[in-house]
Amino acid sequence: MITDTHTHLYSEQFDEDRNEMMTRAKEAGVSRFFIPAIDSSYTESMFHLESEYPKDVFLMMGLHPTSVKENYREELAHVKKWIDKRSFYAIGEIGIDLYWDKSFLAQQQEAFRTQIQWAKEKKLPIIIHCRDAFDEIFEVLETEKGDDLFGIFHCFTGTLKQAQKAISYNMKLGIGGVVTFKNGKIDQFLDQINIKHIVLETDSPYLAPTPYRGKRNESSYISQVVKKLASIYQISFEEIAKITTQNSKDIFGI
Ligand SMILES: [Zn+2]
Repeated sequence: MITDTHTHLYSEQFDEDRNEMMTRAKEAGVSRFFIPAIDSSYTESMFHLESEYPKDVFLMMGLHPTSVKENYREELAHVKKWIDKRSFYAIGEIGIDLYWDKSFLAQQQEAFRTQIQWAKEKKLPIIIHCRDAFDEIFEVLETEKGDDLFGIFHCFTGTLKQAQKAISYNMKLGIGGVVTFKNGKIDQFLDQINIKHIVLETDSPYLAPTPYRGKRNESSYISQVVKKLASIYQISFEEIAKITTQNSKDIFGI
């Protein structure tokens, strides 16, 4: 059994063939799908997805850093309304992204911190999106750290040092397609990270692993990531699937 801890299954990119794609994923052994939120424009499609696949998908709620714009307070109020109204499995994805736009850095920091505090209140994990912003993310985590702070550093692409630092804040590393890339770098040092800190993800429809790089990603392709980790850790495909699924249970409580 494989757990995809990060997939945007509600994406428009799956509207034409979502059922077939889910069938392929299940045939590949993927049976649990954790669904990160982006912003209010996707909430309805997330709930719809949940009603279509109630046994398979587990929803998160949160405001993605690239959606932190002029109206971020309204967007945060939307997140708060929903987490008070029903249960979710995590607050995410949240964080800081300075790759596309630096002009909302202060607002991104505020939104990140606010949502971390909500996660603590609800005893939920956080799912961190970090792009060109390790220092800024760590600065917030440093002031929020504690037993009640835990979660996943999604699509981890940093250095060994940054990996160790993330783990020191009770974060697991979300490993996906990048580990299969020639220049992905993380494959160089992952063997120095205990596998108990690793969870699997696709981030589909983005970041397809080799040999599908550049194409639409889907959960069945996670087997490429499992294969790569099996060779890095020198243990079997089945062991990788089993251990990382257990790690995901430790985080999500299911
Ligand atoms: Zn994502």
